[in-house]
Amino acid sequence: MRLWRSSIFKSLTEFKLYSTNITNGIKNWRHKNVTSEFVKKLCSVIGEDNVNTSLAVREQCGTDEGYHGTSPSDVVVFPQSRDQISEIAKLCSSFWVPMIPRGTGTGLEHGVGATMGGVCIDLRCMTSIIEVNEEDFDCTVEAGVTRKSLNHHIKDTGLMFPVDPGADASLGGMASTSASGTNAVLYGTMKENVLNLEVVLADGSILHTAGPNRRTRKSAAGYNLTELFVGSEGTLGIISKVTLRLHAVPQMMISAICSFPTIQNAVQSVVHILQSSIPLARIELLDEVSMGISCSYSKLDYPIAPSLFLEFHGNEESVKIQAKEVEDIIRMNDGSNFMWSANAEERNKLWKARHEIYYATLAQKPGCKSVVTDVCVPISKLTEIIVTTKEDIRNSGLLGSIVGHVGDGNFHTQLLYDPQNKEEFAIAHELENKISQRALSLNGTCTGEHGIGVGKISFLQDELGEIGIQTMHSLKQALDPQNLMNPGKVLKRQL
Ligand SMILES: Cc1cc2nc3c(=O)[nH]c(=O)nc-3n(C[C@H](O)[C@H](O)[C@H](O)COP(=O)(O)OP(=O)(O)OC[C@H]3O[C@@H](n4cnc5c(N)ncnc54)[C@H](O)[C@@H]3O)c2cc1C
Repeated sequence: MRLWRSSIFKSLTEFKLYSTNITNGIKNWRHKNVTSEFVKKLCSVIGEDNVNTSLAVREQCGTDEGYHGTSPSDVVVFPQSRDQISEIAKLCSSFWVPMIPRGTGTGLEHGVGATMGGVCIDLRCMTSIIEVNEEDFDCTVEAGVTRKSLNHHIKDTGLMFPVDPGADASLGGMASTSASGTNAVLYGTMKENVLNLEVVLADGSILHTAGPNRRTRKSAAGYNLTELFVGSEGTLGIISKVTLRLHAVPQMMISAICSFPTIQNAVQSVVHILQSSIPLARIELLDEVSMGISCSYSKLDYPIAPSLFLEFHGNEESVKIQAKEVEDIIRMNDGSNFMWSANAEERNKLWKARHEIYYATLAQKPGCKSVVTDVCVPISKLTEIIVTTKEDIRNSGLLGSIVGHVGDGNFHTQLLYDPQNKEEFAIAHELENKISQRALSLNGTCTGEHGIGVGKISFLQDELGEIGIQTMHSLKQALDPQNLMNPGKVLKRQL
């Protein structure tokens, strides 16, 4: 382990803290520098091998997959247990040092950036699958377990954990961002699939949000603390364990693809399918830009036109009936090229291509970054917002694609810009603002699944209004009075 002691670095850190304190409000003035004495204490609590102060590691851990760049913490720790996290939190509280939890860093809103310095608490070593209760369809895992490793572990049980954000994210990170993804339309988001959380609070105490060892499907016992922590983005505590619902692997899965002459036709089909209560597992929209990129990147041979990717889960008879009903609706909306397959290899190829679109789009202009929007609106407003958004992208001159978990009213635009070109950057942000404000005006939200992080703080103010924001501040103040838990995320500053 290398301890930094350079006086230049120290003064830069001091300057950074000073300037962020100025911009983020008076309550943050108490945040303290990470001193060598503090780092020594960290080493004594969790062992030198689990503490790292090298710039490369701090930068890597202060970066996610979004466009915000890196905000390195002053030190990264790799706790091995809940009790070690608790000791770290106690130390941070007594030294007034910020704590930034980290899962796998696949977030898009810079939630893992240490924008006010402090300690990055990286959960990658906490990967035990503690119990799988097959008869009860639930399991409890440490927060660093990823969704793919959980599914691999339970593959012979006939059960699965379906929440699928594409990236192989940690389950603690997914709970923290209230993640969802392609099949939330049938199985729900993390909100519906988390039964209990073990959380280390800012002062080191341990909370079980549904009570110790509880794992019931429903509960009416007091305030819903589990849902308070799902989506809290590390600002209220560090999740150390997650108890999750599991689902039976369906007897049969069919995936399908079809294309449309216009984006209106595609979105209208989605609305009609949902109104017919056909229990789809996945229904994803790709505009013609995404289809073009996806077909060339993933070597697919489909029409370059607005398209839907679909999946049906059930028994042989039910999925075939569903697929037929959907095909009829699609034809009514001028859709064509309806192709379906029950072959696992073909299914995986289709969904792999869908999940690769983010990187496929970035690859269109090497060196470019992208602003990703994540709005969600009531289904009846979906056609209006997607059509106007497409128009806006066309007028902006930027390369921008649209993909969407449209079964939930949620879609993303990915707006490419050259980071060296200030004008492009400004256009991308203006567009992001326009799309988010439009979603709000249509009774929607600025984020269906990526969270607020640092990127969407101003939209949250508009979305919740004054009393909503004040209530969030009150909760934050009650649970984290020193404002040490991932400060500067979700809420701009303590009131
Ligand atoms: C290509 C691509 C596609 C994506 N598609 C989707 C999608 O379809 N749906 C979707 O929902 N998301 C999607 N995402 C975003 C991302 O995968 C999710 O936000 C994911 O849930 C983040 O998990 P993580 O472990 O990587 O968390 P991180 O990125 O490490 O952290 C995210 C936030 O959670 C906090 N956090 C992490 N672990 C903990 C913990 N144990 N306790 C408390 N706080 C914690 C961090 O402080 C941070 O604020 C996508 C990302 C990429 C790169």
